[in-house]
Amino acid sequence: MAILLNCIFARMNSEELQLVKKLLSEPKSIVITPHKNPDGDAVGSSLALWHYLRQNNHKAHVIVPNDFPKFLKWIPGVDEILIFDKNKEVSLTIIEEAELIFTLDFNDLRRIGGMQGAFENAKADFIMIDHHQAPHDYARITISDVSMSSTCEMVYNFIENLGDRDSIDKKIAECIYTGILTDTGSFKYPSTSSRTHRVIADLIDKGINGSSIHQKIFDTNTPDRLHLLGRALNNLVILQEYSTAYITLQQAEMDEFNFKKGDTEGFVNYGLTLEGIIFAAIFIENRDEGYIKISFRSQGDFSVNEFARDNFSGGGHTNAAGGRSDLSMNDTVKRFRQLLEEYKEQLAL
Ligand code: 5GP
Ligand code: MN
Repeated sequence: MAILLNCIFARMNSEELQLVKKLLSEPKSIVITPHKNPDGDAVGSSLALWHYLRQNNHKAHVIVPNDFPKFLKWIPGVDEILIFDKNKEVSLTIIEEAELIFTLDFNDLRRIGGMQGAFENAKADFIMIDHHQAPHDYARITISDVSMSSTCEMVYNFIENLGDRDSIDKKIAECIYTGILTDTGSFKYPSTSSRTHRVIADLIDKGINGSSIHQKIFDTNTPDRLHLLGRALNNLVILQEYSTAYITLQQAEMDEFNFKKGDTEGFVNYGLTLEGIIFAAIFIENRDEGYIKISFRSQGDFSVNEFARDNFSGGGHTNAAGGRSDLSMNDTVKRFRQLLEEYKEQLAL
């Protein structure tokens, strides 16, 4: 029977807690997987949980659907991560043999790309820990809380609820800090609560150096990336009448600046820094995937989660979501601009 934990974690009821404890009471083969194109919260939460489970003698593996940006490749334990796309056979065997699978930072099996089939056929019990909207019902235990800053904060709570806060060492603290830092936009998004700051305070007490982690993640520009940002900003289109700004990047432009994974991270946010703009989008052509990857951001009540879900096969949070388009860049942008007319009232200031 599936248990849905749509609650603040501190209020997890004893039945649910007992079940988690029971599932973890003896060493198990465990797989931990975050969403495709893993970000700081995805990698951070997976590795935090991995360290914790290993401390408790589980045989745990982090398997990510595909590669992730270099600016995350210092996180403790990162060298042990299996990348499914590059290690299919061994990953499939591990998934098949797993007794327990944690899915972190997503809530819909379509978000794990080529791993979806293996997960649908897996015999393991699933535990979801996630803060996105509209969780699917595939896990035995669904820990879902859309008010949370990050899955990393939820993993902190998870460990605390199991009575193991003392086992959060410096390595685990560094993993958790990374995801909270990146998912809150350096503690500035509205999901940053007093509790978030208390968790951060505890992580600092565990010995992390927040400033150094910030540098490792954000001070990693290359000349190519800055020039690509220049191009992106040059391509920015501002539609004041819809309070909207969007950026396009064609594959040829990405090639021109030797695009590396993660190079476009954060570009979408620039649109929102303009006065009178509450909706920002970036459209990025991806030759390998054969579609246009879209990121949406908003300020205030306009739900980009719903916008992405209803129009671009995507989803996410109220103020940050993603999606895709199988049309050409021109047609995608045309469609997007037509949609703005439909959403005009919601976009009025
Ligand atoms: P980003 O724009 O940074 O890729 O993603 C913003 C948020 O939306 C993240 O929380 C991410 O997990 C979610 N997201 C991104 N792309 C998709 C998508 O295609 N489908 C769904 N459901 N969520 C997405
Ligand atoms: Mn997240």
